[in-house]
Amino acid sequence: MSAISLPTLLGDLGPLWLVSPVKPILALLPFLPWAWAISTHLEKDADRLLLGRNKWNAIHMSAGILAVLSVLFVPIFWIGWPLAMVLLFTPVFVYVSVRNQKSDKQWEPLNFQKHLGDDGNKEERKLLKELRYQFLDAQGVPASIPEAESEAFQIMASASELPFGVLVRGATRVELLVTEAGTVGTSVVNGLREQLDPMPAKMGLKIREFYCGLAGLDAADLRRQQYGKFGLQGQAGKTNVSMFLSGTKKGLHLRLEFDMARRLKRDWHELGLTASQVDSFEGHFDLGAQGGFVLLSAPPLQGLSTLSYGFLGRHDAYLQNVRALERQPLITLDGVDMIEYDAEEYTEGYSRHLTAVLRRDPDVVMVDPIDDDKVTVRTLLETDEPPVVYLPLRAGSLGESLQKFMTLAGGDAKAAVKNLKYVVHQRLVRRPCSECSVPLNATPELLQKLGLSEEEGAGLVKGLGQIEVKPGRFETCDRCQGSGFSGVTGVLEVLKVTDEIRSHLANKDLKAALVAARREGKISLQEAAVKAAGEGRTTIEEISRAFAPARKAAPANQEASA
Ligand SMILES: [Zn+2]
Repeated sequence: MSAISLPTLLGDLGPLWLVSPVKPILALLPFLPWAWAISTHLEKDADRLLLGRNKWNAIHMSAGILAVLSVLFVPIFWIGWPLAMVLLFTPVFVYVSVRNQKSDKQWEPLNFQKHLGDDGNKEERKLLKELRYQFLDAQGVPASIPEAESEAFQIMASASELPFGVLVRGATRVELLVTEAGTVGTSVVNGLREQLDPMPAKMGLKIREFYCGLAGLDAADLRRQQYGKFGLQGQAGKTNVSMFLSGTKKGLHLRLEFDMARRLKRDWHELGLTASQVDSFEGHFDLGAQGGFVLLSAPPLQGLSTLSYGFLGRHDAYLQNVRALERQPLITLDGVDMIEYDAEEYTEGYSRHLTAVLRRDPDVVMVDPIDDDKVTVRTLLETDEPPVVYLPLRAGSLGESLQKFMTLAGGDAKAAVKNLKYVVHQRLVRRPCSECSVPLNATPELLQKLGLSEEEGAGLVKGLGQIEVKPGRFETCDRCQGSGFSGVTGVLEVLKVTDEIRSHLANKDLKAALVAARREGKISLQEAAVKAAGEGRTTIEEISRAFAPARKAAPANQEASA
């Protein structure tokens, strides 16, 4: 029935219309396609895009009820009925525009060609349904799908199930270790490592080979570390996968990082520094600022790369000469010269290439993590009037990173700290889920205990992990799968090395240096975390977990930690 014929038909019915029971039935007809569209398409779509199925259902249901009321109780039908249609379909159009912004794949409900299709691809499309993702190779070309029930198809299906199982929960990384005894794996969800179900060694090998083929890596080459990329095209859009391969004594190691470039590129202002910490960097990023060393540290899995790129990217690369020298550049930053260490040209090692980079008078340089690289630290310390140099390293605390640096620098503490400008230590805490968190309304006693003013504690929240769909009826939150957390945020401790602090450090008196820093307003990592909770970036519950004294950081693969 077309839009034109319906009113004409109803109009022709004349007086009959006023008394006929047909009226409400005809008037309510549009509700059928509406209900069908929501229950068969919109609901599932909202679910897989994590847009909050329950929220949208509630909106559509309210619109439906208002529309029915409008048809039944607005006395003039030709006002009541159009109003009902507006009420009914506006949320649908709003939903489509919201989801199109969120998804790479535009939703075109009226694209009949897609539904009719050509028969040639029908079989492939049917198979694709059984896969969680379509795989894209390093060039972005979709991988062809093997015949159904072939071994190749089974491997592809397993290779798509593995990331899917953790990506729905927001994983950022999967690691596999293939040994003769079997394949074990871990995933990282919201900064926490979790075990994967073990699988037979043979399947692990096959999956590894499959990914290698996609990324164009040599599965047989066990001596080199290799790096490649491929893509996963799923219902929730495209996921870029960075793949790292290495052979260790224990077995074959494989690491997949999901949407790594996006995660590594975080604006400096979004790293999680407090206002006073931001102020302590005044002048540091300006053109012509005094050079010197900035130690950037974090425990394994706690966002050291993001921190380092965040600082590097804060410099204006069009005014300053900004360079990074890395064994494996992972991202590009506008205007920054991201140099890959050239092992063939500089056979003597990384530090020789670094010397060449320093000779070209850069304003800012970022080096690779200096974890046990004494030679690089010496090279830097021997540089007269160094530029601003960022030195990432992995350490459990700010004090530990300072001590590590002093050890790497050798015996002369005075020389080590002569050009030290800042020490920055970071760790990650989980963010409360945006869908299911509720204000905490902290009591004055709690605020006092936390050391927050009423204003500073105004943003305290708690993630419930569930959503109240009807009064008294709760459902597990889709976005966080019931954990109450979604994503991570940084909390930081910043030590600005003043002359007084430098002299304490030169005397190897770390304690006195930290006391002096405290006097000058340095806040501890825990205090920074509580401030973050006050802003709603994390929760008190998460701080208790993250800073629990007995807890040891999960053993992480040092070389593999980004
Ligand atoms: Zn949630």
